[in-house]
Amino acid sequence: MTSYLTKHRPGRTIFANPGPTNIPDSILQASAVPSIDFTDEDFTNNVYLPCIDGLKRVVKTTDGQIFLNAATGNGAWEAVLVNLLSQGDKILIVEGGFFSDLWGMMARNLGIKVDVLSTNVRTGVDPAELRSLLSKDTAHEIKAVCVVHNETSTGVTVPLADIRKAIDAAGHPALFLVDTISSLASIDFRMDEWGVDGVVCGGQKGLMLPTGLSFAAVSPKAWAATETSTLPKHYFNWRFQIQRIPHKSFAGTIPSHMFFALREALRLIEAEGGVDAVLARHHRLAEGVRRCVQHWGSGDKVVQKEGAPEIFCEDKTRYSDSITAILIPGEGKPAQVKQIAINLGVSLGGGIGKWTQGKIIRIGHLGDNNEASILGVLGVVETALNIAGVPHYAGGVTKALQYYAEQRIAQQTNGHTL
Ligand SMILES: *Cc1c(COP(=O)(O)O)cnc(C)c1O
Repeated sequence: MTSYLTKHRPGRTIFANPGPTNIPDSILQASAVPSIDFTDEDFTNNVYLPCIDGLKRVVKTTDGQIFLNAATGNGAWEAVLVNLLSQGDKILIVEGGFFSDLWGMMARNLGIKVDVLSTNVRTGVDPAELRSLLSKDTAHEIKAVCVVHNETSTGVTVPLADIRKAIDAAGHPALFLVDTISSLASIDFRMDEWGVDGVVCGGQKGLMLPTGLSFAAVSPKAWAATETSTLPKHYFNWRFQIQRIPHKSFAGTIPSHMFFALREALRLIEAEGGVDAVLARHHRLAEGVRRCVQHWGSGDKVVQKEGAPEIFCEDKTRYSDSITAILIPGEGKPAQVKQIAINLGVSLGGGIGKWTQGKIIRIGHLGDNNEASILGVLGVVETALNIAGVPHYAGGVTKALQYYAEQRIAQQTNGHTL
């Protein structure tokens, strides 16, 4: 593939940013089609509507409705807020990091009052604290609890089932709104089972799409809330969109090319064995990354080596299967490692927001990855640690490949081919 950059980088750069992610060739090719009339019945019945069914399978809903936008994830954030809330309503943002902060800022700019449940961003929210906070809101002023499922800036995934239980235990009627932009199709998410009312979803992360499509999945309870919502809205107005039969989305032209790409992405998911098989692969690949980073940090010892890399997330039960944030001590070291890595053929994410800017690198392992791509990333990062003079125990990559070997052998024992 020709590089779109002026600087020639021989070989194929391994893209390990946590969004956008790698786009599989077959998805790129699927969208290389001539323009069509977007009201064409063949397109509607054979491309568009099957995509909606596929998205419902990915978010695991049968009761929910899907509303799409030609926008990035920010558009879906906005759609969920403006369709469900009114001027002066109060919401609770559960702090997680840069993205939860940004969602809160958007809400304030839209005229919504925002309370923040502060957390230690290296572990994420304690459901018991959420429960106690909601129990004190006896007047039920909080209209929605907003949670980022997987905080892309920290690599912490919060347990949504426990958060649902905390809301129920407080007997609180607030809507449960969840940002799944970096967890969809990469980390277990169950809209109906976990009683999520508004799901915010993006295309260019786990769904492997070119950037520009996002959507919301809306529960019957949330749909009822759209009746009383008075915040100004137009392009994102679901009650307007639903009248556009049969597409029920988009105030203007339907971005048909995105649907050819989406149909292929959904086909790839099914061809791998369905969304659960995709989640299992993400878990396996992520676990290899973690074993590697842990080895860099402490080798076979218990104590962390001074100045060595460390997983940012401090709760082992909340490690993210879509992105690993790695703390690298030393002024300027993360940026140096990131720059060396790109020169060696691996694109990484850096720190973003007040908690992680300048302090971490982020390995995105969501979307279209396999052992080969992940081992390539880890090998290059270990090389970069050497070049940048970051103290570490050598041989982290060996830990990852040993783990992948064990996993494959176990799968073979279970009747799968190697
Ligand atoms: C990427 C991301 C967003 C923002 O989405 P855009 O597509 O960049 O607008 C919001 N939340 C999370 C968790 C993300 O990872």
